[in-house]
Amino acid sequence: MTGLQAPPTTTGRQTPPGVEWSTEADVRAERRLDRSGWEPDGIPEAVAFPRTPEEVQQILREATLSRTPVVPRGAGTALTGASAAGTGTIVLDLSRMDRIVEIRPADGVAIVEPGVVTAELDRAAGAYGLSYAPDPASLAVSTIGGNIATNAGGLRCAKYGVTRDAVLGLDVVLASGERISTGRATLKGVAGYDLTGLFVGSEGTLGVVVGATLRLRPLPEPTATIAASYPDITTAAAASVALAEARIQPVLAELLDEATLNAIDPALRAAGAALLIVQTDGGPDEAARALEVLTKGATTIRSATDPASLLAARRQALPAIERLGRPLIEDIAVPRSRLAEAVREIETIAARHEVPICTLAHAGDGNVHPIIVAGRHGEPIPASAHRAADDIFALALRLGGTVTGEHGIGVLKKAWLRRELGDLSLDLHHQIKALFDPHGILNPGKALA
Ligand SMILES: Cc1cc2nc3c(=O)[nH]c(=O)nc-3n(C[C@H](O)[C@H](O)[C@H](O)COP(=O)(O)OP(=O)(O)OC[C@H]3O[C@@H](n4cnc5c(N)ncnc54)[C@H](O)[C@@H]3O)c2cc1C
Repeated sequence: MTGLQAPPTTTGRQTPPGVEWSTEADVRAERRLDRSGWEPDGIPEAVAFPRTPEEVQQILREATLSRTPVVPRGAGTALTGASAAGTGTIVLDLSRMDRIVEIRPADGVAIVEPGVVTAELDRAAGAYGLSYAPDPASLAVSTIGGNIATNAGGLRCAKYGVTRDAVLGLDVVLASGERISTGRATLKGVAGYDLTGLFVGSEGTLGVVVGATLRLRPLPEPTATIAASYPDITTAAAASVALAEARIQPVLAELLDEATLNAIDPALRAAGAALLIVQTDGGPDEAARALEVLTKGATTIRSATDPASLLAARRQALPAIERLGRPLIEDIAVPRSRLAEAVREIETIAARHEVPICTLAHAGDGNVHPIIVAGRHGEPIPASAHRAADDIFALALRLGGTVTGEHGIGVLKKAWLRRELGDLSLDLHHQIKALFDPHGILNPGKALA
């Protein structure tokens, strides 16, 4: 039924005229899951493909009247169940609102629709010598709307900030169908409460982003990429902390443990049991100082001006781990100074529960991805994998960190939210949700415990 004007959904509900819809089973099934592996009951009732903010308004007005749950969706790459949609829901697929409306080089801002693919914006900004800094590893497919709703991070966020740092203003359709603008198009501005910040990371539960004003930065020019191997992950993590202590701010600092190196290529392991890849863009002096710091305790060290060769191992990590079995990609963050402790403890957790864990970290900002290899693809996840994940979350909180550094809560981490936030804070979250979405139609059951 794609493209029909106002087809009835599978339950016979009328859909707003003029909006493109599909009730085809395969179209609905394609948008049932995200990349977390979490499966909702059933499949969504219909998929709407709005092309304008006015169409999003129409859909939400109707959804509020009929009390229909709506799941906003960009590219569906969430790793938490946040964009999964089950029985009785309507998927609001924003991928066709994909225009880069304007790039204003003199102001350092871009105005975009939510379905713009992250890498496309960065590429378009590049034509002006600018960049869109937040670079999740999914950037070739993820959308700006999804990035905003998850406050996505990435490799170069260590120096240039996460999505929240790049969002200056938003155009948002509320559950009622009303439309508001938050923030501004200036680099400074403090009028009113920070509603922009509130929407960033709210996982589609407070409103639907239909436009964004984003900050662009001068294109960083990497001056050096250094790959340092170490005898163990603790020494490698300590080396990344030593960089911070030496007041060196790398663009990226990626840490790979022994299990990850073995998964990619056992030959990589021969150079040392842990690899730290660091990129700087602060000129030759900073690069030389970084090399000096990283050399201490390293078993081998390589430096190149061509980053591609040294970053290849990092890019290959996830596909290599996926070849070992079903990956549960966890995502904690700890204060940078506790990184070595965190990765050491994760090794202990893997041994205690007898589950393989491959650890990757954005070491520059203390964001650790322990990837639990949870049995074979397509088979049920063993209880030991869940127990290991629980121990990892408890570890994050014990070290003064958080149960999610960049992927969000979705469905999978709801049980841990109360432990991190506390009762009073979580109750305030529910009050805020009720204020924006009194009938609970926006992505219900996600992001809040
Ligand atoms: C291989 C791989 C690598 C990844 N690497 C990273 C990484 O390095 N860093 C990182 O942070 N994440 C990473 N992720 C997770 C994921 O890509 C990010 O969370 C991304 O921001 C999701 O974008 P999306 O367009 O796919 O959003 P979706 O998955 O479609 O949606 C994510 C959330 O946003 C909501 N949403 C989507 N669009 C809107 C909108 N317009 N308005 C309101 N709510 C909306 C959805 O309801 C959902 O709650 C990775 C995922 C994969 C599969």
